[in-house]
Amino acid sequence: MCYDHLLSTLVHLKLLYRAIKVRIYPNPQQCQKLTQVMGAARWWWNYALNLSNQTYKETGKGLTQIALNQVLPLLKKSEETAWLKDCYSQVLQSTTLNLTKAFKNFFDKRAKYPRFKSYHGRQSAQYPQNCQVVENGVKIPQVGVIKASIYRLFDGQLKTVTITKTPTRKYYASLLFDTELETPEVVVTGKVIGIDLGLKDFCITHNGEKTSKYTNPKHFKKHQKNLARKQAKLARKKKGSKSRQKARKLVARVHERISNARQDFLHKLSRKIVNDNQVVVVENLNVKGMVCNHNLAQAISDVGWGMFINFLDYKLQQKGGLLVEIDRFFPSSKTCSNCLYQISELPLDMREWICPSCGTHHDRDENASKNIRAEGIRQLSVLGTRTAAEGGEVRPKGGRKSVLRHSPVSSEAPTSA
Ligand SMILES: [Zn+2]
Repeated sequence: MCYDHLLSTLVHLKLLYRAIKVRIYPNPQQCQKLTQVMGAARWWWNYALNLSNQTYKETGKGLTQIALNQVLPLLKKSEETAWLKDCYSQVLQSTTLNLTKAFKNFFDKRAKYPRFKSYHGRQSAQYPQNCQVVENGVKIPQVGVIKASIYRLFDGQLKTVTITKTPTRKYYASLLFDTELETPEVVVTGKVIGIDLGLKDFCITHNGEKTSKYTNPKHFKKHQKNLARKQAKLARKKKGSKSRQKARKLVARVHERISNARQDFLHKLSRKIVNDNQVVVVENLNVKGMVCNHNLAQAISDVGWGMFINFLDYKLQQKGGLLVEIDRFFPSSKTCSNCLYQISELPLDMREWICPSCGTHHDRDENASKNIRAEGIRQLSVLGTRTAAEGGEVRPKGGRKSVLRHSPVSSEAPTSA
């Protein structure tokens, strides 16, 4: 059951980190240095991943962060890989940390198995300290001040700076600040909303009074067609040719446009839902399990459910709200939200059904969102909280007794690590 998980969500008190992502404009020398550093970070990621895989095959155990970091000095001494010395050493150690995290996320079933990084993909390097925001720029060790348009800053300490380079050769810096504020205490007074993530619609919500459907933006399809066309063009180009390089860039640009449009949509929708509600109940999706079904695979990765749930989660944390994830095996579609009768089977293409027990006519998704909401409320009540839906002020057990503190600023920037 996921009560333990829920309880830890309730009592867990985190320092509030804020992130913004800004475009940066390195000069040619800086580009060269950054390319070198990102290349070294990518090489080390792939080397460490390979080493972990091999060690696992031989011993049945992986490598810890410490064990991996101990390999670095040896590599720097070896003649073939001595060039690693030119890379700022903390960037390499940050890479180790991120790889270890990626493995942990995989073993906790939150993510896919870590993948090798390609020269053609997005390049990145993370600086865990010693960076500085200065006038008109960001100061990076070994690289100097890179010109940047920073439109907003947060009070607090700059923790890490992650530089990324897109396949379309744009550079960005994600600045992570430790605002030294505690996250607001979780308070479960206010509205509770249940969200069913759909395929036909992006999601269907029920807030106790009304059901709303949110469809995928129409322009996604247009982008998709465009992408397919450009990909086909790329496939026809000769390997290693100039025109192939050009076509690859065009494909990357469409990818970028799709990803921006999707993030924009998910940010706006999650912002609206979090503004209107204090508790959001979603199904805990085992994305890996679902993507095994190839019919659904494309649709699921397209709509970005995982990203949506992350956006909801951090926006809720900022306001002291709560994300409740219910067990994905909870039969939200097959249970009648009126009388709780459970039918044995409901094929995916059956959009409507009538409850054989009480005769209620159900829209599949609407019924599911009602059930998800009810199940979330039930789980909260197991923890000794009552929700606004049942009336009265509610505080989660084990939470602090201090006053709810709203954070003074809010960020729409994705907290990409
Ligand atoms: Zn019924």
